[in-house]
Amino acid sequence: MFVMDYEKSKGWYNPRIEPYHPFMIDPACVVFHYAQEIFEGLKAYRIADNTIQLFRPECNARRMMESAGRLCMPEIGVEDFIQAVKTLVSVEKEWVPHTFGASLYLRPFIFARDNGLGVHASKKYTFCIICSPSGSYYKEGINPIRIYVEDEYIRSAPGLTGFAKCGGNYAASIKASEMANDLGYAQVLWLDGIEKKYVEEVGSMNIMFKIDGKIYTAACDGTVLPGVTRRSSIELLHDWGYEVIEGKLSIDDVFKAGREGKLEEVFGTGTAAVISPVKELFYKGETVIVGDGGIGDVTKKLYDTMTGIEWGKLEDTKGWMMKV
Ligand SMILES: *Cc1c(COP(=O)(O)O)cnc(C)c1O
Repeated sequence: MFVMDYEKSKGWYNPRIEPYHPFMIDPACVVFHYAQEIFEGLKAYRIADNTIQLFRPECNARRMMESAGRLCMPEIGVEDFIQAVKTLVSVEKEWVPHTFGASLYLRPFIFARDNGLGVHASKKYTFCIICSPSGSYYKEGINPIRIYVEDEYIRSAPGLTGFAKCGGNYAASIKASEMANDLGYAQVLWLDGIEKKYVEEVGSMNIMFKIDGKIYTAACDGTVLPGVTRRSSIELLHDWGYEVIEGKLSIDDVFKAGREGKLEEVFGTGTAAVISPVKELFYKGETVIVGDGGIGDVTKKLYDTMTGIEWGKLEDTKGWMMKV
């Protein structure tokens, strides 16, 4: 694991790579009580010539700085973040799998280290990166998932922390996910926090809807996590000539399109699953089937293109990949 410490008077100091080990943390540490913590998620891929590459790590670095700003935590420079990731991956390169679809998952995170129960921005922090080989997300091929549209709980609202990748957002979302899982749904689709009307995102993925030839996804204007996969998918869709509308799409319009046979494709985008097809949505007692319940053409093309670029099977015409 990579570890680096921060103290207000010193800035970030003592960057190091250590064997994986538990932290000794005071029970009164701020992070346990007030959840001052942020994280990132990215992968290292081994390509045919045995070089190892990262997918747009500067996007993760910048997003982590945005999250830090919101949670009142110190920033790490983009270059330092990338250097830390690259150094750890170089040391652990034997752990980067050789199989297509498998990768080394990297989890950078920063947490508050001050001890004491007074609520305040900590003056001490630890930045850490842990990693683990992760198998292909789709062991038995891509299976379209069923989604529960949450109509009671919310994950985000304007002014809150929806755009930041912080543990607290997840803590508040687990209850709805567990309830949906119990009913047989893989994920929860969150609606906007004010009117509970507009689609926002899914669990740990952004979500896109293809309706009557056009692609819709929520805008990233504060309440939605700005996914790197989302952004990359939009660039590809534009290249392929699709109109992508980043804005408000109501759940009622999604269901209306479904009833009229115009809900052609729905898919989630995120680092873990890359592109995840959705076959069914449940909302307030009604179920709608997406397309013919299989994997749509755009979903498939995005999945093949993204994974092709990541694992070096397709030329990286976008300059997205960074060699370690
Ligand atoms: C990480 C995350 C995503 C996806 O972001 P990527 O950069 O594409 O992995 C989407 N929504 C939430 C809530 C997330 O935490």
